[in-house]
Amino acid sequence: MKEKRWENWRCHVCGQRMLRRVRQPFEYAVSHDGRPPVKIRIPDLEVIACTNPDCHPEHPHDTIIEDDAAICRITEETYRQLGLLTPTEIRAGRERLGLTQQELQDLLGLGGNSLSRWESGRVYQSRSSDTLLRLVFGLSAAVEFVKGLRGPHWAGHAERPA
Ligand SMILES: [Zn+2]
Repeated sequence: MKEKRWENWRCHVCGQRMLRRVRQPFEYAVSHDGRPPVKIRIPDLEVIACTNPDCHPEHPHDTIIEDDAAICRITEETYRQLGLLTPTEIRAGRERLGLTQQELQDLLGLGGNSLSRWESGRVYQSRSSDTLLRLVFGLSAAVEFVKGLRGPHWAGHAERPA
C-alpha cells in the first residue's frame, strides 16, 4: 500500500491535521504557439486539501496540495486539451520507427535537442511539429517519402554501433 505521509501533515493555514484527498475543479491558462492563452479545465482533479471547516485561507488555493499524481494529471490534460501528442506518445512513436532522437530530428529537419525536449515534457511542440510527428508516426508512406527527400546521407543511414 502506498504510504500516505501527508495524512500527518499540518495545514499550514490552520495548523490542524485535517488534510484529506478531495476532488475539485481545476482550471488554468496556458499559452502555446503564440496564440491567446487556452483554458485547461479539469472538473474533478484529485488533490489534498484542508477539510477543517474553521480554516479560512486568504485564497482558497492556499491549503491545496497537488501531489505527483495531480501534477501528472494536469500535464496529461494540458497536452490532451491543447490537442498535442504527449511526451510518452512521442517517444513511443519514435521507437516504433526504430529511430534515435538524433535520427528523427535529422530526418524531419528539426533543431538540435527538439526530440529530447519534447519527450521529457520540458517544451511543448508547436502545432506544426505535432502535425509532422503525427504524419510520420501514422503513415509509413510519409516516412519513406521524407527519407527519399533526405537522400542517402541522413544520420539514420550511418553505421550504428552494435
Ligand atoms: Zn486548514
